[in-house]
Amino acid sequence: MIEQFDAIVVGAGMSGNAAAYTLASQGLKVLQLERGEYPGSKNVQGAIMYANMLEKIIPDFRDDAPLERHLVEQRLWVMDDTSHTGIHYRSDDFNEAKPNRYTIIRAQFDKWFSRKVREAGATVLCETTATELVRDGNGKVIGVRTDRAGGVVFANVVVLAEGVSGLLGTRAGLREMPKPETVALAVKEMHFLPEEVIGQRFGVKGDEGCVIEAVGTISRSMAGLGFLYTNKESISLGIGCLVSDFAATMESPSALLDAMKNHPSIRPLIAGSEVKEYAAHLIPEGGYRAIPQLFGDGWVIVGDAAQLNNAIHREGSNLAMTSGRVAAEAIIKVKSRNGPMTKANLALYKTMLDDSFVIKDLKKYKDMPALLHTNSSNFFDSYPRLMSHAAQNFMRVDGTPKIEKEKNTTAAFINARSRWGLVSDAVRLALAWR
Ligand code: FAD
Repeated sequence: MIEQFDAIVVGAGMSGNAAAYTLASQGLKVLQLERGEYPGSKNVQGAIMYANMLEKIIPDFRDDAPLERHLVEQRLWVMDDTSHTGIHYRSDDFNEAKPNRYTIIRAQFDKWFSRKVREAGATVLCETTATELVRDGNGKVIGVRTDRAGGVVFANVVVLAEGVSGLLGTRAGLREMPKPETVALAVKEMHFLPEEVIGQRFGVKGDEGCVIEAVGTISRSMAGLGFLYTNKESISLGIGCLVSDFAATMESPSALLDAMKNHPSIRPLIAGSEVKEYAAHLIPEGGYRAIPQLFGDGWVIVGDAAQLNNAIHREGSNLAMTSGRVAAEAIIKVKSRNGPMTKANLALYKTMLDDSFVIKDLKKYKDMPALLHTNSSNFFDSYPRLMSHAAQNFMRVDGTPKIEKEKNTTAAFINARSRWGLVSDAVRLALAWR
């Protein structure tokens, strides 16, 4: 007899686990497929995990989830070749009973999340790739073909949680292959150091953590971001830039990472560390305008596969978890009304997601990707250098009258961008930020 599921979830990352857990915990018959050897084996993240979005799925996750450090300090650095100009925010308020943000290690975290999915009653099959969507005569998705022998499985609805580089949706024509200008390639290393050394270097104690996010000349005029996150006994260090920029400049991602590690502001923080892991992964960065059709007859798309990633705030896993949960809640509602999983009924997922922070945030920043990507040499090279020049000019005491210093700084900005260029950049940034 052919086994029929209420839902098949393709992928066991953040979005897939959120969807599978929500569906299974409400008693639906769920099959989850993961191509990796174990959940998390294929997944890469910085990684900051936002508690609020997980609490909405597993309220007591703090009891047993593998969490590294809770964040009490965030540093935003604008870098030139020898300096950084920073905004630091640190607050003891973040030492709350239920901290707001944690660093995690995805391989461990995804395994834990997957255990919760199994405990909720879902069937999870690893080392199983969904190779094709199966449709009925009317084009409705009714299941998936897998790479297992005789491996066609059927369900009322398929949740595509296959991540940004998943091929199932693109092969089926449900979404386009991400374009080079809408995805970043990020490379990351794990630097191991004793817990107390990390504590001393970053001024944190116990399981307090600190993160540094950096833009500027480290991305060599490309639109990009570097990051350094503290775990218990390691530091995650990485950098990502748009694939189209890598192609245009022929810069090598690993050379960029090496240069970042050798920057005088970064080098002392990782000195003496042992590098045990290296990973590379894509990040969807097209924003609101790159979101594909999210639902259809018998299918929904969630997480990175749907380009639900807020590059401006460096948030992805929370959008993935939320879209997975919201898709599952929509499916549960449709089922509870005895409705078929048609395009018309699954439109509820989009309505619910539109009402969440996920779409509201992406809509707010809808013009930012284009602005940053088309002006990358200004925003990621000229301005960081000018900021450093201005800060150094302000701080260096050398007998130059302050009025002359101010004129010098103003002249540097005007020479680099012209008055009109400065006004135009400021207006465009303000309009895109609204
Ligand atoms: P994924 O986590 O990519 O999961 C997709 C899963 O589907 C994978 O397990 C894959 O093996 C599986 N799969 C794919 N195709 C198939 C198939 N055909 N059959 C079966 N299984 C399949 N976000 C944050 O919130 N905070 C951060 O600090 C952060 N840092 C990041 C740093 C880096 C370097 C990168 C690359 C990303 C970062 N992100 C961060 C983004 C975050 O990792 C993603 O938004 C999130 O992982 C998306 O989850 P997902 O479930 O949609 O996709």
